[in-house]
Amino acid sequence: MNTDAETWLAEHEEDLCAFLAETVRIPTVNPPGENYTDLVERLEAKLRDIGLSTEILTVPQQIVAKTLLPGSANFPRHNLVGRWDVGAEKTVQLNSHYDVVPAAGTWKHSPFAGERDGDWLFGRGMADMKGSLAASLFAVEAVRRTGLKPRVNVELAFVADEEIGGELGTGYLVSHRKRTPDFAIVCEGGAAGKIGVGHNGIVQLEVTVLGKGGHSAYPIRTVNAFEQMVALVSRIEPEIRKTLADSRKRFATPSGEYLEPVVNLGGVFGPGKAAKVNIIPGEASFTIDRRLTPSEQLVVVDRELRELVRSIAAKCRIRIRIRKIQTTAPCALSPRSPLPQAFRRAVEGVRGGRARFTVNRGATDMHYYARKLGVDTIGYGVDGKNIHAIEERISVKDLVATAQVYARFLCDFAPDSPKGR
Ligand SMILES: [Zn+2]
Repeated sequence: MNTDAETWLAEHEEDLCAFLAETVRIPTVNPPGENYTDLVERLEAKLRDIGLSTEILTVPQQIVAKTLLPGSANFPRHNLVGRWDVGAEKTVQLNSHYDVVPAAGTWKHSPFAGERDGDWLFGRGMADMKGSLAASLFAVEAVRRTGLKPRVNVELAFVADEEIGGELGTGYLVSHRKRTPDFAIVCEGGAAGKIGVGHNGIVQLEVTVLGKGGHSAYPIRTVNAFEQMVALVSRIEPEIRKTLADSRKRFATPSGEYLEPVVNLGGVFGPGKAAKVNIIPGEASFTIDRRLTPSEQLVVVDRELRELVRSIAAKCRIRIRIRKIQTTAPCALSPRSPLPQAFRRAVEGVRGGRARFTVNRGATDMHYYARKLGVDTIGYGVDGKNIHAIEERISVKDLVATAQVYARFLCDFAPDSPKGR
């Protein structure tokens, strides 16, 4: 039993909520990636305040400019790591992204005010995922202030850009930082009684149909790219659906659920630059967002999707260009290894009941740890409501319980003993 740190957290609920509200009031909206420097400075000060050593990996400007679209390329990308070295051989890293999606729509509670209303905390990023970030930070503080000592070195990684794929966030951190952890907890992708052990992957492409524009009144020798795009989409849509129906692509999660591959066509579609009612469109584009299960392989899905689109376009004599928007590998780890089992005990100990292991439909940064570093990873954070929507919120009770789960895990996890404790 390590109730000291958990009691400390219950007693410091106000401080935790106040700190979280402070982070929500710094709108780290991505795209384009605003106010990263302000928030990272605040987080670094807090890490130092609780006695951790800190390290900031700022992505060189040339790499930012090469990787991101022009609208985002002038905003700096920082990744911050706080480390508590207890002299153990192994290190566990708790990862939270600090960027948030834009706050569109009409909110009753202002999105960047950090308002509390009864047991609820409202704001963009409260659930995804500044709530979990603050919970992980306070969990480490609770363990330190109560004089407990983990049997594993503890790192808190606060990263950029998860909302646009994480290439310059966790992706940059795992490939550029010399010291790498042995275990990782991505602080989202599981909540309450569910622990994430993987997620689906993503292939996002943009297909541009290349026609030949002109004046509406003189259509001779023009090629209407919009009409061709409609023809192309109507032919590829049923063909893509056919490929999804393959039962070998389904994935059975440890909790007995089935994940199936899905596709969304035309999340973004539109004309080229010369868009006007009396101009024959010379370009028209649409996006494909294909989600793959852990039973599928990223390179295979990517290649087959491009081939399918290209071959149908060729048959219809339509000229196209395909651009990659983003790809993310799927991942799924065994729930039987020491990390998920120790975490399960922490969840059950704090919350009661039986915890379950799940694989998420939406992707997180877990795959960077699981596939790039090859380390055991789980996903767990606050139980948010209205993520990416208006009135995004978390309950204070869940926030404190989540911090207590992290704290209990940190006190109990003993990776060097044969059973993980
Ligand atoms: Zn998130």
